Amino acid sequence: RESRTRGIVPCAYSQPMRDALLRRADLERTMESALEQGEFFYLIQPKYDVEGRRVLGGEALVRWRRPDEGIVGPDEFIPLFEQNGFILRLDEFVLESACRDLRARLDAGLPVVPLSVNVSRRHLHRDDFLPSYVRIKDRYGIPDGLCELELTESIVMDDLGGTFDIMEQMRAAGFRCAIDDFGSGYSSLNVLKSLPADVLKLDRGFLLEGTSPGTEETVVRTVITMAKDLRMDTVMEGVETPKQLAFLRTTPCDMVQGFVFSRPVTPEEFYRLLDTGK
Ligand code: C2E
Ligand code: MG
Ligand code: MG
Ligand code: MG
Repeated sequence: RESRTRGIVPCAYSQPMRDALLRRADLERTMESALEQGEFFYLIQPKYDVEGRRVLGGEALVRWRRPDEGIVGPDEFIPLFEQNGFILRLDEFVLESACRDLRARLDAGLPVVPLSVNVSRRHLHRDDFLPSYVRIKDRYGIPDGLCELELTESIVMDDLGGTFDIMEQMRAAGFRCAIDDFGSGYSSLNVLKSLPADVLKLDRGFLLEGTSPGTEETVVRTVITMAKDLRMDTVMEGVETPKQLAFLRTTPCDMVQGFVFSRPVTPEEFYRLLDTGK
């Protein structure tokens, strides 16, 4: 009665919080066996030229097929796995899967394009990060430049000096290096100038309708033009509409990754797209 009059909930956790904790415990309890049972897999989202005629690359994106539940997306488990460290094994699993499929294509004499994987911030603080990535790439004999590692802008901004060193080492080891979600945080054009990256991926937030139309377009055009001057490949992420496409065609943007052309698809579908164009 006391708590009711004060408006205080008389239990430790609210129902939504309890549900979230149970969910989390369930995901953590099952993650190891899920990896062994083959419940994790990856999709590839194609990156097209701005006209949508050619597939120029792809991004590997992890999924979890849970029995009795269906497919769960990374937003639900990546933050948890980053906390408990399981992301280290999952990221390597995605890299290895992508390399294995690339190897099969190379062996069959079929065309390939650079494929990117996302690298969690947890890797960057480990001495064995790059050696183990190189080991996987070499085990499948992937030629330099075919495998690209995406680091988010926020990872880079956390420790500019440290990340720059790692990026240089990645490139020396034959990986291409991409900055993911550029423009989602607080990096400046000054940082852009010194980034040792091969690819700049502009965050899809740039394309969301802002308060003053036109302003965002100027920013996007400026960033893309600058990145091109700095000899980086540019990718616009999250392109959904023909109107956004029409705008990007007036910029020197190299690649478009978004639902307007394709959602993430299975590796089989991706390579079929690459072979047939449809
Ligand atoms: P990201 O690396 O920025 O990947 C792009 C995300 O945007 C993907 O979501 C993709 O499906 C989505 N997307 C693509 N085009 C569009 C569009 O036109 N509209 C909208 N609304 N969304 C679009 P997804 O697959 O759910 O992945 C979410 C995030 O999870 C990724 O963002 C990445 O940060 C992380 N992630 C995914 N796979 C992995 C992985 O294997 N390892 C790690 N460490 N992180 C991963
Ligand atoms: Mg990415
Ligand atoms: Mg992104
Ligand atoms: Mg993102």
